[in-house]
Amino acid sequence: MTDSPSPTEKLYLDDSYTVSFTANLVSCERQDDGSYAAVLDRTFFYPESGGQLPDSGRIGDVDVTSVWEDDAGVVYHGVTSQVGEGDVTCEIDWKRRQEHMHHHTGQHILSRAFIDVGNLHTISFHMGDEVCTIDVEGPKISDAIVDESENLANTVVQENRSVIIKSVAREDLDNDALRKKLPTDVDVARLVEVEGFDVIGCCGTHVRRTGELALIKVLKTEKARGAHRVYFKAGRRALEDFQRKHNIVKRLSKHFTTGVDGIEDKVEKLQSDTRTLRKEMKALSASLAKYEANAMVESARVVGKRRFVVMVLKRDDEFIKLLASELRKKDNTVSLLGGPSGRITCVASPDTEVDLCEAAVKCAESAGGSGGGKGGFAALQLPPGADVERTLGKIYEALKTLQVKGER
Ligand SMILES: [Zn+2]
Repeated sequence: MTDSPSPTEKLYLDDSYTVSFTANLVSCERQDDGSYAAVLDRTFFYPESGGQLPDSGRIGDVDVTSVWEDDAGVVYHGVTSQVGEGDVTCEIDWKRRQEHMHHHTGQHILSRAFIDVGNLHTISFHMGDEVCTIDVEGPKISDAIVDESENLANTVVQENRSVIIKSVAREDLDNDALRKKLPTDVDVARLVEVEGFDVIGCCGTHVRRTGELALIKVLKTEKARGAHRVYFKAGRRALEDFQRKHNIVKRLSKHFTTGVDGIEDKVEKLQSDTRTLRKEMKALSASLAKYEANAMVESARVVGKRRFVVMVLKRDDEFIKLLASELRKKDNTVSLLGGPSGRITCVASPDTEVDLCEAAVKCAESAGGSGGGKGGFAALQLPPGADVERTLGKIYEALKTLQVKGER
């Protein structure tokens, strides 16, 4: 049995900014999934915990893709292959670490701001690669509360307050002064104080001064299991978000040939114009369908007492539906209408007494399609690329020999 390693010296607790360091490799063992878990005597790599994502980087020239800590305080670095022996050089991905520092510190500030403004207490924090959220629990959240909290948080950023990390023994601690009371099993607390604004026990990585965040932006809020979920970005990600959205607004402004403040009016006008046009088009389509149905009946094939309208139309399904309902009103008329999407509508006016559904569906199926309907109506769908005209011809052949009652 191998001895489990001694707890790792966690250098990130005292220094969030060092990202290049050397350490001694304690072990590097193969995992079930084929990757390796490297243990160092000391590390600046932050293991995933407390809502904060782990760091990434390299040990030697091997990628570190995950970092975790076990109950005994040993930090494991998930690496893609075996790393060297003895002293190894390590490099943490600074951009990613810095984003985590910005969002973790931003979360402390925002969580306190929501309490001060709206008595909304943070119950959980989630850090993602794209967006971070806090869930706040409290009486209500309104746009005004969100705006005011965001403003307060950004005032604290602009004031460039110190972020002080200190270890305090439980007996020396004013537990009531903490945003969240310390768990009972913690003897020495690592307190993170945003000077004069917020104190809480936390083991994450934070900035030295709030000004480093530059900006905290709330993106949206939504209800989440009895709480309100607040999405936010801070630092570089907030700036990138602003740039992306600003570019969209700039393009819209160009499309609508108006200033930014005029875009909403233009969109409303566009929506209202579209509604009016849709209404007009619907009325016009109905008239046109009547007119075209009349013309189609005029040129229909006559078989005994019945007329057959058999056509492939370059019309959309919606219009073909209108045509079919007009044709159904005509005397002794069976209509077989194909459209460009491979859809076929078969409809027989009631006086024809033609039960076309079964025959029509059979023809569609033999062409690899499907369909359904009842009595004098069938809606069929042929597969892409199928010969619609050919199937219409087959349905026509099957129907034209059907006897009308009283005919011989
Ligand atoms: Zn923290």
